[in-house]
Amino acid sequence: MSPIDVPGSDPLAPPAAGLDGPLLRVRGLTKSFGANQVLKGVDFEVRRGEVVCLIGPSGSGKTTVLRTLNGLETPDGGVIEFADAGETDFSKPPTKAQRIALRDRSAMVFQHHNLFPHLTVIENVVEGPVHAHRVPKALAVERAERLLDRVGLADKRDAYPFQLSGGQQQRVGIVRALALQPDLLLFDEPTSALDPELVGEVLVVLKELADEGWTMVIVTHELAFAREVADEVLFFDDGVILERGAPKALLANPTHERTRRFLDRIL
Ligand code: ADP
Repeated sequence: MSPIDVPGSDPLAPPAAGLDGPLLRVRGLTKSFGANQVLKGVDFEVRRGEVVCLIGPSGSGKTTVLRTLNGLETPDGGVIEFADAGETDFSKPPTKAQRIALRDRSAMVFQHHNLFPHLTVIENVVEGPVHAHRVPKALAVERAERLLDRVGLADKRDAYPFQLSGGQQQRVGIVRALALQPDLLLFDEPTSALDPELVGEVLVVLKELADEGWTMVIVTHELAFAREVADEVLFFDDGVILERGAPKALLANPTHERTRRFLDRIL
């Protein structure tokens, strides 16, 4: 039996549920760029299998939150705690081991897919597992092929990114994140760089991942999508979460005037 057939190692399935308590706990997160404090104390939790959407005006700190979760930015203060990876308290500089432990819990899908232009689709997908996670090449390729098939791109295996549509490129970006078998998937406005007619095919994949039980944090302006898929919506404003709640209630009936003004502008 190859490792891929061992129960629990199916690359198409999210990591097994079953832990008590939240998968991710963020407390008091702060971050400044120079004199500009962009996170002013952010607290939230994400349970396994939950989809949390981050909405709010441009510049309110949503992307910075994702980047801190993925280790791309180091917060100035606060705590990020992943179940089974312990907590990192950023009131003191994180150790290298803490940084690696944090980075490996999640995988990020960017606004622009960030595929390597000189690598084929399959090479793009196996690059992370083989080089960062030391997965044997043959196994990584087998998993990558199954994931590409899963999003309808099996026939694009040997294509280069420039030969794909924007929607196809973004679906490869999603497969590349799934191939890392993370506990948590992070999406930074995954459809905002796409032509309108290509948005739907990417949202369909996200919805399917949600239905399969993947845990996801998604920065998005697609409020209809958030209403349908999110378990919780966090409304960011000027570096804090001003309001949070179940999507139907928050989007239909916001408590704060600023949330109302934001929703009026984009709905
Ligand atoms: P959002 O995702 O809500 O649009 P961001 O987290 O991208 O907001 O940005 C929040 C603020 O932080 C903005 O004012 C932005 O200009 C600033 N910012 C983000 N990244 C950097 C950086 N690397 N250097 C300096 N300022 C940054």
